[in-house]
Amino acid sequence: MKKEVLPRKPISKRTRFEVFKRDSFKCQYCGESAPKIILHIDHIHPVAKGGDNHITNLITSCEGCNMGKSDKILSDNSAIEKSKAQLDLLQEKREQLELMQKWRTELKKFEEKIDNEVIKYFNAKSYPFSLNETGVSKLRKVIKKHDLNLVYESIDISFDRYLEYEDDKPIQSTVGYVLNKIGGIAFFKSLPPLQQKKNWVSLSLSKYFNKEKWQIDELVNVYCNTIGFLTEDQIIDDLQNEFYPRAKNFYSYSQLKAYVYDLC
Ligand SMILES: [Zn+2]
Repeated sequence: MKKEVLPRKPISKRTRFEVFKRDSFKCQYCGESAPKIILHIDHIHPVAKGGDNHITNLITSCEGCNMGKSDKILSDNSAIEKSKAQLDLLQEKREQLELMQKWRTELKKFEEKIDNEVIKYFNAKSYPFSLNETGVSKLRKVIKKHDLNLVYESIDISFDRYLEYEDDKPIQSTVGYVLNKIGGIAFFKSLPPLQQKKNWVSLSLSKYFNKEKWQIDELVNVYCNTIGFLTEDQIIDDLQNEFYPRAKNFYSYSQLKAYVYDLC
């Protein structure tokens, strides 16, 4: 008996690109990525069961994970067929590399657009001064490392804290200072809340007692261990409202140290 096979509608190049791009050129089953593996497009809902070529029904997979694998097994008795298959594979690999290149270019353009927005934002705030090349690359480094919202927030904080004016005009040297502080602020704000609070306490007290920050860090950590039975929120609250004001009542760093070690 002959079985009727419906011809598969081919997936367009454009759709393939969109699927690969959405899936970051990675097999969504095992996580391997091009160019290490050859990528395939897999139908989530199989074509044989009525699945279509809509992008939501398509997923990137590698050969090993491709569900439709059985359709593609090569007959192993024909050397010609084999070498043709190898050529096809090479061609496929080449096309995928080109697609990936295109994807990278698109990403890069997108990143540049974001960079320019942030630079514009900074320049608007520092008007009439604007970033030179060194300044721009400094800001780019921060943008690369952090979430965009955090970058904007850190810029705002830095301007609020460090920009100074003279006759309603920003002082140029303080603009440079503002710029230099943004990375540190973003780093600090990306830490978990308890770490942020510890850092803040250590920084403030190291200035207060005129000591190195690591010396205070040590005391803060020892102190936190003695109240380790509390929840994280309670420890944060304690550092702010108990430990910090109490620490400032000591005359010296060594007094504070003795107090903390006495608690253990
Ligand atoms: Zn895979």
